[in-house]
Parts: sequence; structure tokens; C-alpha cells
Amino acid sequence: MKYYIGIDLGGTNIAAGLVGEDGTLFTRLSVPTKSGRSAGEIVQDMAELAKKAAKEGNIAWEEIEAVGLGVPGTANKETGMVEYANNLGFYDEPVVSMMEKALPGKKIRFDNDANAAAWGEYIAGSGKGVSSMLAVTLGTGVGGGIILDGKLFEGINYAAGEFGHFTIDRNGIPCNCGRKGCFEAYASATALISQTKEAMLENTQSILWELCGGEIERVEGKTLFDGVRRQDGTALKVFDRYIEYLAAGLLDLINIFQPELICIGGGISKAGDLLLEPLKRVIDQGDYARTSKRRTRIVPAVLDNDAGLIGAALLD
Ligand SMILES: [Zn+2]
Repeated sequence: MKYYIGIDLGGTNIAAGLVGEDGTLFTRLSVPTKSGRSAGEIVQDMAELAKKAAKEGNIAWEEIEAVGLGVPGTANKETGMVEYANNLGFYDEPVVSMMEKALPGKKIRFDNDANAAAWGEYIAGSGKGVSSMLAVTLGTGVGGGIILDGKLFEGINYAAGEFGHFTIDRNGIPCNCGRKGCFEAYASATALISQTKEAMLENTQSILWELCGGEIERVEGKTLFDGVRRQDGTALKVFDRYIEYLAAGLLDLINIFQPELICIGGGISKAGDLLLEPLKRVIDQGDYARTSKRRTRIVPAVLDNDAGLIGAALLD
């Protein structure tokens, strides 16, 4: 077995893990990022955590083949620079060469966190064995990654797969990106929560109020799904519309890419079949290839927060 270290650099935490060549995660450690610090300090912490992750898994440092790094923001794989990472305050930081200095002799691999997570799901999670897949993450925003013919498709800025920002309603809700009606503005967890709150304000008798203890600020994605389980009329209405939004975006992706598989990750995907079954029904009717024998499968992501680590460790 060959061993690798994967590092997931986030705005809140740095996680590092010892990963086998088959994608098995043996150890997982994390420390607070304390973002706002210099890139040098953060690199030092990442290097130390990488060594600890190997040690904790009883693998000598010399046996580690490579260290892979997933970073939030724009990761230029050609130059090894993090060109911009909003939540770390990084501008043009040569993170790869800094890591090479901190860990002499180790190969350093590098990508943005969304691509690393998609790659992890592909190599070791829900995408094992397929040749093409899309990873779609429904979280604060909507993100993802594209794997075509066994390779990450990354575009000129290594940032392809921004699934949050294609238009599903040209005159729709303003999006953070400056346009209107982006998929993210309808299908992210953030969007679902605001759709839920809006409906609650119009329906003061809804069970959703009870489910959030009467405090609307406490509404989360789960609140809506709990309401659906209780067959609350308001919850069901919000839910059906959310499924329509989600299906609209996913159908576009299916028609464009015809992937073997789409895996859905992020907090919302925890709703499991409650979400996926009705979603699949709507997609089934709209898929341009609906008369074909081979159809895109929609599945939940399986690696959760470890996808980024595992994917980073096994980057090409
Ligand atoms: Zn947008």
C-alpha cells in the first residue's frame, strides 16, 4: 500500500489525514485555521499537522509518497499560487513552494477545495468505478466539480464546476455574483432556509413554527424536512417548489454533460431519500435522454467532510 497525506485548508479549520492509495482514510486531525494570519504561519501549521497525521497512523514520514492540498479560492495549478482566497485573506500566495520548503523532498499536489472534494468522491466514494460524474454540493452556496473520462475538468482558471451560477430565471432573485436568477439563489441550503422562513411568515399556523421553537432565526434546512415528514401543508409546498428548482438546474447539467452519475453532497443531502426520490421522479420526466437505456444516476455523496481530504491526498 502507498500512503499519502491529504490536507483540507478551510476558513475555520485545517484538517489533515493519512490516506491509502485506495482512498482509505486512516487518521484525521484538525486544528483551527485562525484565519487572518500570514500564509507562512498557516503553511507551518499544515506541515506540522501532515507529519502528525502520518505519525498517528504509524507510517514513517519517509514512506509518504506525496502531500495534497485542497484550498478555498483560486488555486493556480501551473504556478502553485493561491491567487485569491477570500476567507483566508490570501492574495497571490505561493503556497506550493512554501509547502515544499516546509516539507523538503515531498511532492506537493494542489487544487481548490471543491475540485479536491469532487475527486475524493470520484476515487473513493459514490463515484467509484464510473468514468464521468458531477459532484454537486448544496450548502451555503452551490458548488461542485466535473469529472469527465476519469479526469477533473477544470477550465482555464482551474475553477470550472461553479454550478451555483448558471441562470434558471433570467429575471429572478439577485445573486451574490451580481447576476439574477442563479441556481444557487434557489437551490442552496441558504435559499431553502429563506424560502422556508418566507412561507412561515405567511402561515402562522404551520408546524414549522413548532419545529423551530417559535423562533424563526432557528430555522435550518432540517426544519423544513422535519415539517415534510409531519406532512405539514406549508412545508410540503416549500418542499415541492424546492424540488422543482433543484431538478431544473440538475436537468440542465444532465442534458449538457450526460454524466454517468451526479452525486449530491452538502447539508441538504442528509435528507436522503426524502429529497432524492421526489427529485429523481421530476428529473426522470424531464431528462432529454429519458427514452434511452442508460440514464444518469442521482446518488448521495458518501464521504461527507472527508471527501476534500481524501481527494487532495490522491490528486494527480
Ligand atoms: Zn450567481
